Amino acid sequence: MKNRQPRILVANDDGIQAFGLHVLAEHLAEIGEVTVVAPDREQSASSHSLTLRNPLRIDEIAPRRFAVDGTPTDCVNLGVNVVLRDTPPDLVISGINPGGNLGDDVTYSGTVAAAFEGTLLGIPSLAVSLVIDREHHFETAGRVARQVAERILAHGMPPDTLFNVNVPDLPSGELAGFRVTVQGKRGYSDAVVENTDPRGRKYYWIGGDIVDGEPRPDSDMQAVREGFVSLTPLHLDLTNYRVMDEVKGWPWTP
Ligand code: MN
Repeated sequence: MKNRQPRILVANDDGIQAFGLHVLAEHLAEIGEVTVVAPDREQSASSHSLTLRNPLRIDEIAPRRFAVDGTPTDCVNLGVNVVLRDTPPDLVISGINPGGNLGDDVTYSGTVAAAFEGTLLGIPSLAVSLVIDREHHFETAGRVARQVAERILAHGMPPDTLFNVNVPDLPSGELAGFRVTVQGKRGYSDAVVENTDPRGRKYYWIGGDIVDGEPRPDSDMQAVREGFVSLTPLHLDLTNYRVMDEVKGWPWTP
């Protein structure tokens, strides 16, 4: 990266009009050339889905601002392979999601999936989420994102890794600091709400409160509870190496 600004691809899962996306792009514009490629509508909890059965369209709605009629993963894929084909980004940053992506919830997250896609394409990537409480301090998350981006640009990113960053909903000056964390364990409380519609038919609403299933001092959830920015390095390799020998020991008959 000689004699040029870092190129930063920004995406999200909340759509191109989302406030968190604008805050993120603004803060990153202080340190690099930002290109936004984001879904044309909200795509939260879309996970790592790639559109393969339908054509996709890219709409340039403003200079360096592109809306795609697809998922967050589609956006990063087309951002790297089409929009920035001749000028590959140095970083992919997804967010700022209005709501945490903590513990096992990262597996549903479109925000994290966008960063996953960047990593798969060989580009250092991170996801940034604001753990909304009451105040909605997106500015705090924007400043955090900028700082983490600067660190990655300076130090590089370990291979096959992405950073999942969760920011407590506090004014910048009240943050306790940064903590490198492990992915926590999600618990369940009223995970599915059952109700009856006006025609007497039952319906179900998936959701409910996130509960810390197995509290531990080094988890992402605990860090945020204590006012720390949580930075979890996630690995692309989902293999559970610890159980390989045990599973190999089961009686496998061909
Ligand atoms: Mn979202």
